[in-house]
This record gives sequence, C-alpha cells and structure tokens, in this order.
Amino acid sequence: MPELPPLREVIARHGLSASKALGQNFLFDAQLLDRIAAIPCDLADRAVLEIGPGPGGLTRALLAAGARVTAIEMDRRCLPALAELGDAYPGRLHVIEGDALGMDHAELMGEPFAVVANLPYNVGTALFVRWLGGESWPPAWTSLTLMFQQEVAQRIVSQPGTGAYGRLAVLAQWRSSARLAMKVHRSAFTPPPKVMSAIVHVEPAAMPEGVSARVLEKLTEAAFGQRRKMLRQSLKRIPGAIEALDRVGIDPQRRAETLAVADFVALARELG
Ligand code: SAM
Repeated sequence: MPELPPLREVIARHGLSASKALGQNFLFDAQLLDRIAAIPCDLADRAVLEIGPGPGGLTRALLAAGARVTAIEMDRRCLPALAELGDAYPGRLHVIEGDALGMDHAELMGEPFAVVANLPYNVGTALFVRWLGGESWPPAWTSLTLMFQQEVAQRIVSQPGTGAYGRLAVLAQWRSSARLAMKVHRSAFTPPPKVMSAIVHVEPAAMPEGVSARVLEKLTEAAFGQRRKMLRQSLKRIPGAIEALDRVGIDPQRRAETLAVADFVALARELG
C-alpha cells in the first residue's frame, strides 16, 4: 500500500477550504472511509465510478480496496491533490473535470461499473433518479452506494404504510433491492452538515415483465402527488387507471401510501 500524506495536510497544502456552494463536506476518518468502500463487497480490480471525490478521502479507500476508479469532480482546485493520488496508484485513477449531471456515465465507463459517492444532496438525488429510471434494464451500473441525508435514505428504503413511503421508495424497489447500509453522524464531516446522513446501497434485480418504466413513473407521480387523496381521485387523470384498479383488485378508496410496490407494478402492467 503506498504511503500517503494525511488528508488534512493535503487539504492545507492545496488550499482546499470547503466550498458551501459546491456542497463540500469532507470525510477524513480513514476507518470510516474503508468501511464505506467495503459496502459494495469485493472491489478488487472492479471499475468504480466515484462522483465528487473532492480531496480524495473516499477515493483513497476505493483504491486501497483494489478498485480501478474513474472520478468526476467539478471543483478544479481539487485536481492537483487527486493527481498526486493518481501518481501513488499508477494507472488506477482516472480523473475527469466537470459536472457529472451533464455526462453519460455508461458511455464514459465502457464496462459494467459500481457507483460509490458522497455527493451534495441535491446532486445525489438527481443522479439517483436518473440511474434508476429508463426502459433499459439491467443498467450499466452493478450497484449504487450513495450518501444521502438520513431522512432521504429512509424514504428510499421505506415500506408502505409509513409517512416516508413514496415515489423514491417505489422507484428504488420495483426492480432493485435497496438497503440502508450505514448511518453516518454529522460530526464525521468537515464542516459538519446540519443533518445526519446515511448510506444507501442499491443492486439491480430482475425487471418485472410487461411493465413500462415510464407508465410506472407516471402512476407513482399522480398517486403520490396527491398522497392524502383516495386513488379514485388521484389517478383520475390517467386514462384507464380507475378500471385497472378494479381489474387488479385494488380498492379505489385506498390511498397511495397503502399500496405495496408490487401493487404499483401490477397496475402499471395493466395499463402497459
Ligand atoms: N468525496 C469527498 C469526501 O467524501 O470527503 C467529498 C464529498 S463533498 C460532500 C462533494 C463533492 O462533490 C465536492 O468535492 C464537490 O465539488 C463535488 N461536486 C458537487 N457537485 C458536483 C457535480 N455536479 N459533479 C461532480 N462533482 C460535484
């Protein structure tokens, strides 16, 4: 394992004060970072896409776990520190400067890849929704290991009948498995964010047959857009939806949050 200078020293030497505008909250605890890199299981020689490496704390842990890392960072101040890390792991770290929201990750990687990232929460959610959407399945990624605000992480893994259950849960669970892998205390970050964080780990599962992702997304959008209303009201604008409820045996007086993910899948199939 190469000898690396302490992260805090790297940050001081490169003048990497955390930028609020870029959502920068850095992790320094090497043990915690190793535990995060261990969540996707054996990364030895696997391709990993890391978004937002910052000064490279998580990148170090991924490289130490044997991964071949492609890292996209939009803060050019971080590039010299990342270049030093690349020198310590020749041929194993490829850094791309830019906004990950504007890139085609599958094309960039050119092979199946695991995603591991500690991102600003708004960017993380936007990418998450994109990675889980679309008609093409299985996706190019083999797993997503992502830091979120704890409250968002709980929404992703939530079950029906809870206040947290909604579009994010259906999106993350209808053709993937999603679990809350680790809670991370706010004090682990520099500077500490206002709220607690948690890491969600998602792996693709089989796509249910005869279901269009677009139809399912439209259904959940309508159903949870008016989550306090009965389905006969909230789904009224979707042609055929009320009849489909009847055919799959779902009482139209129920509310969206009482439907299992499998109920949404059955409804989408019926409307397909
Ligand atoms: N991974 C580092 C860690 O765990 O200490 C840094 C985490 S910090 C919360 C998020 C990083 O994402 C910052 O370095 C920021 O510059 C970068 N970032 C923010 N938005 C981005 C985007 N759209 N594309 C690429 N990087 C982004």
